[in-house]
This record gives sequence, C-alpha cells and structure tokens, in this order.
Amino acid sequence: MSDLATRNIMYLSGVGPKKAEILKKELKIVSFEDLLYHFPYKYVDRSRIYAINEINGEMPYIQVRGKITSLKMIGQGRGQRMVATFSDGTGTLELVWFKGIKYFKDQIKPDQTYILFGKPSLFNRTINIVHPELEKDQPGKSQFFQGLQPFYNTTEKMKNHYLTSRAIFKLIQNLFQTFQASIPETLPASIINKMKLMKINDAIRYIHLPPDAQTLQKASFRLKFEELFYIQLNILRLRNQRTFSTKGNIFKKVGHIFNHFYEHNLPFELTNAQKRVIKEMRKDMGSGRQMNRLLQGDVGSGKTLVALMVMLIAIDNNFQACLMAPTEILATQHFETIRDFLKGMDVSIELLTGSTRQSDRKRIHTSLMDGSLNILIGTHALIEDTVQFKNLGLVVIDEQHRFGVAQRAKLWKKNTTPPHVLVMTATPIPRTLAMTIYGDLDVSVIDELPPGRKPVNTTHGYHKNRLSVNKFIKKQIDEGRQVYIVYPLIEESEKLDFKNLTDGYEYIRQVFPNQNITMLHGKMKPAEKDAAMQEFASGKSQILVATTVIEVGVNVPNATVMVIESAERFGLSQLHQLRGRVGRGAEQSYCILMTGYKLSKETRKRMEIMTRTNDGFEIAEADMKLRGPGDLEGTQQSGLPFDLKISNLAKDSHILQLARNTAMDILADDPLLQKPENAILQRQLKKLAQQKINWAMIS
Ligand code: ADP
Ligand code: MG
Repeated sequence: MSDLATRNIMYLSGVGPKKAEILKKELKIVSFEDLLYHFPYKYVDRSRIYAINEINGEMPYIQVRGKITSLKMIGQGRGQRMVATFSDGTGTLELVWFKGIKYFKDQIKPDQTYILFGKPSLFNRTINIVHPELEKDQPGKSQFFQGLQPFYNTTEKMKNHYLTSRAIFKLIQNLFQTFQASIPETLPASIINKMKLMKINDAIRYIHLPPDAQTLQKASFRLKFEELFYIQLNILRLRNQRTFSTKGNIFKKVGHIFNHFYEHNLPFELTNAQKRVIKEMRKDMGSGRQMNRLLQGDVGSGKTLVALMVMLIAIDNNFQACLMAPTEILATQHFETIRDFLKGMDVSIELLTGSTRQSDRKRIHTSLMDGSLNILIGTHALIEDTVQFKNLGLVVIDEQHRFGVAQRAKLWKKNTTPPHVLVMTATPIPRTLAMTIYGDLDVSVIDELPPGRKPVNTTHGYHKNRLSVNKFIKKQIDEGRQVYIVYPLIEESEKLDFKNLTDGYEYIRQVFPNQNITMLHGKMKPAEKDAAMQEFASGKSQILVATTVIEVGVNVPNATVMVIESAERFGLSQLHQLRGRVGRGAEQSYCILMTGYKLSKETRKRMEIMTRTNDGFEIAEADMKLRGPGDLEGTQQSGLPFDLKISNLAKDSHILQLARNTAMDILADDPLLQKPENAILQRQLKKLAQQKINWAMIS
C-alpha cells in the first residue's frame, strides 16, 4: 500500500507542523514510511537490573533499582552541579547533574524507589552516572523497557525541540498504533522462501520493537539483505543493458607484434597472476562486446606491463591504444618505461601532456589521425576534443581514482564503436566496496608480486630517533642506495607545509653535506619537476626530498628507504602508496614513519597496521573499518553514490555476497525482469530511482 508513503508525518499524533518541519530538515523524514525506515543505530539491553556492587566503570548503559539517600549542590554559577547518592543496599553510586538542576531537584523524592538508567564511569574512585534517567518503580506499570531499547540518531537541533531518541521511539509506537494494516511486501515470495527471510511487515516492526536478540537479528538480516539486493540488482541490470546494446571492437588475434614482444623483449617471466589477467582481458576483447574492466593490483605488482601487452594486442588488430595517467611525472615515466620495453620493435609511441610543445602537438595530432601512431601516452591532455584518433581500440587509465567518471566517459566517445576500457588501480578497494561501486565493471586482480621481492621493513619513529634515522640513511647511501623523504602537502595549510618542506630540505643538506639532494613539489613547473625526477631516477642525486607528488606510480628500483615525515597526517592507503615507492628492486627496503609524540588512538592504530603488514588488501579493509567506506581514500571521487540505511559494507560482506548471487540468479532467469512474479522488483527499482540515487556515478 502506498498509503504509508503518502501519509504526512505532520498528522501523526505527537508531531504537528513545527516538529514535522524539523524532521524533514534534519532527517528528510516526510511520510510515515520515512519514519519507519529511520532505523535504530543501537540497542541497549534493559532486560536486567544490576546490583550496584556488580558495577564497574567499563560497563555500557545499565539499570539499577534503589533510593536516593542524599542530595547536595556543589559549586557556583556555571560550575554548579547537583550530586546525589544512590543506594540499593549492595553499595552506592554518585549521580551528577550539570543541567536541569532545578527541575530534577523538585522531582526527586526521598524514600521513593527508582529505576535508574545510565552509563557508569569511574571518577575519583567512585562510580558516577551523569544525567541518569530516573523513573519511579511502579511494578507492572513501568514505561521502561523490559527488553532491548532502541536508540535513534538525532541532531542537536532536534534535541532542542524535544525530538530525542526516546521521543522518536514514542512516535514510532504511535505510528504502529495508528497504522494497523500490514506493510506490503517488497520482495518476491520466491526470494523470501529461498532465503528464509522475515516478512517486511515483521522486519520493520521488530527492528524498532525487538522482543529478543534473535528476532532482532532476523529482522536486521532481512532489511540488510533487501537493501544490498536492490543495489546489486540495479547495477547488474545496467550492466546487462550495456552488454546487450553496445557492441565492442573484436580483437580476433594475437599477432606478430605481441608474439615478438613476448619472445624477444620481455625481460622476465610473467607472474601467473599477470598471465591470468591478460587471458581474462583477451577473452573480453575477443567477445564482440565492449570490455570494461577494473584491474586491481597492489603497488609493484606489474600492472604497467600488463597494460602494455594488452595494448599490443590492440595494435595487432590494427587499432590504436592510449594510456592516461593522472600526473605528468607518471605519464612521462610510463612513456619512458614503455619506450624502453619496445626497443627495436616497429611500434610508434608518443607522449602528450600539458607541456608538450605546440609543434610536437601538431605532429602527434596528424599521426593520430592518419593512423601512423600506435600508442599515445599522456595526462588529461588526451581528453581534449582536439585529440582525435583514426581508430582507437583500447583506452587504459592508470590510477583510476584520480579521474572522474565524466572524464572517462569522454574518452569513450573518441571512436564510433566505443573502445575497450581498462582501468588500473593500486588502491586495493576491498571486494565488498568494489562490488558496490564498480559493480558493473568486471574486476581482475593481480594478487601476486614478481618473485624475489622482499616485504618492506616498516618502523615507527619519533623525534628522539632522528639521529639514528640519519645514521641509517647514511649507511644505505654508502651502500649505493637512494632515499625518499616525504612531507605532507595539504591545501589548507599549504604555506606551513611548504615551510616544513624547505626547512626539511635545509636540514637534510646540513646533515648530508656530501650528498646530492633533490627537492620536488607540486608547485614546480612541469619541466622542473621532470628534471628533478630525472636527477633522482638516474642516480645523480641520492636523496629526494618531496611532497606527495611522488605518491603514485613512480618507479626507482634503487631507492630503498622511504622516510615519511608527519606520518600522522596521512591516511592508511596513502601511507601504503608511499611505501610502495620502495621495495621495487632486489635489495631489502625500509619505510620509516616519523610522527610527533602525541597521537590519537586512531593514528596509533594506523601506525600499528603499517608496521604489521605489507598487504594492500588487508590495509584497505582496515582502512574501511577505521574510517567507514564513504571516506575510503581513493574513492572520494566516486564515493558511495547512496546512503546505506542499515547495512555496513565493512561488516556485512557475507550478506552482500548473498544479495549479489541472488540478483545474478534472478537476472539469469529473467534478464529484463518481465516475468509477472518479478513485477514487484520493477516497482521497487523504480522507487529507488526516485530516491535520486546517483547511479550515473557508478561507472
Ligand atoms: P605497478 O603495478 O605498481 O604499476 P609496475 O608496473 O610499476 O607496478 O611494476 C613494478 C616493477 O616490477 C617494474 O620495475 C616492472 O618492470 C617490474 N615487473 C613487472 N612485472 C614483472 C615480472 N613478472 N617479473 C619481474 N619484474 C616485473
Ligand atoms: Mg603503476
């Protein structure tokens, strides 16, 4: 019944125009249905009454039953508070009020037995409860919860208008009283039966009014499953549509260019993972449909080589290929690497960036148009409308998260038949997130590093360790190695950061007067950056003092030490990226995280994770747990295009998997969802679409 969705919350008893306005503004709650879908964020077990002598300061919310034995005022003016002693015969607690003193002072009666509810904490060796909830103990008449009490998110503004968690709960109770009909089902019976799900009517009721933990768990499972199921169904349906409607260039053969490279130019064995992902892509590109593939591989796993070999297949089939990188440094480096790989082969390759000279630009444009240029490598400059290909067959995008989806879409249009697209990322997006954000891209994973790589040895250092760090750097340089020293550069405090960088540079120059030291930062002109990078890559300088411009992709195998200054200011995946700049050669490498002494608990955790593991996927999972999926570094641009009401991608991955499998089964059986029993799915998808979920953001 759409009834729930059309009934205005204003007319629910206890709401009215003023509160309706606040509910709308703060929580976007407009209808009865919106309120029902405002789920509790936690539950507190009120099925038990504790004895005071059982309580300690570590417990969550608890209930006790007893009497107030004394009441006094302490302090003056703003510091004034009211303190009461509460006793149940087994011990005493101290109750404290900073606010509402006058009100409570009048309410509290000696000799009255109360049920008290609050969070105990230990203060001055006494158990304290600040602002407890107190209610007269009236056996049989208690308003208090007997079971699990739900807690609802509220905002400051809501609280100012008495819309507390308790008040929301009261409204929901009112709603269930007003609305006696049952809530219409939102999933087909086949799924409910197969997955043994609770009916929506029960799930909604029990998520708010759980009689016990087991019922709550079933209700929550049903709602999480449904939420994730519809997201997956929509993503997979879009993918189906695209597969049906867009034709792709067919790369029939692996020809002599690829084979020549494989036999004569390839300097090492491919790892099994590299072989596997190349095979996966060959299959896509030969299938007649357009490839849209995400290639994930940890830093140093050899994605560039894979990209090159796939580009060679395109050339073998008389198509052109391009590779787009997020920074000029990286584009230049790719260009040089690939040019070297292709030495002696008849494959033409050019570099196009913002700083390419006008005359070179002309030449490149011409050779693109007449088809004599095989591979173009560059930055955003590739997207410009003036860049036209004769026959673009494959687009490779490196370090995907730096590019917006719209930019990617522009590349698509550079050919009548859209080119195959390979997106490469070193940000190891956790599987659950990849399935949600990139659900309609196929995913290949390089889960193996080239042989002989030693894990980077990571330590955490403080200012007091500076001298030994310097000594260590000296020793490594004496052994012929090179060193990165990285400083943060964040926009808001750019000036300060710049000072840190230049001060650091001066300091390093004084400590290492006999070494060549290069400085590199984002504000330098492209040519200067290039020269600086060249100086370091060629081994002319031993130390590179830089900002995070070197974060992605840079490859100098002889560098074995990465010192990260103010490491507390970096997120986990950024630290991992930076660390990935070392450990690229045969020598043992080191990463030293320098921080201040005062660190938050979360920062400590980050340092601990970094020193414990080198595994990018493990780090990404940990990152997601620490920060939540929406904040996950590297996905800000794509972000999560929707709010999840109840599921949590970090915790509910098994439910996501079930939901995805179910969605796949349904679409395999009925790709366009035309069967009568699937009408309900169409209806729900339409409803989701109306909720302005930005599906376009899911590439
Ligand atoms: P990323 O995946 O981080 O982009 P790169 O493509 O830059 O990694 O590769 C890192 C280094 O490993 C490069 O020097 C590359 O030549 C080398 N490499 C790639 N594949 C192999 C392999 N199969 N065996 C040995 N070295 C490899
Ligand atoms: Mg790379």
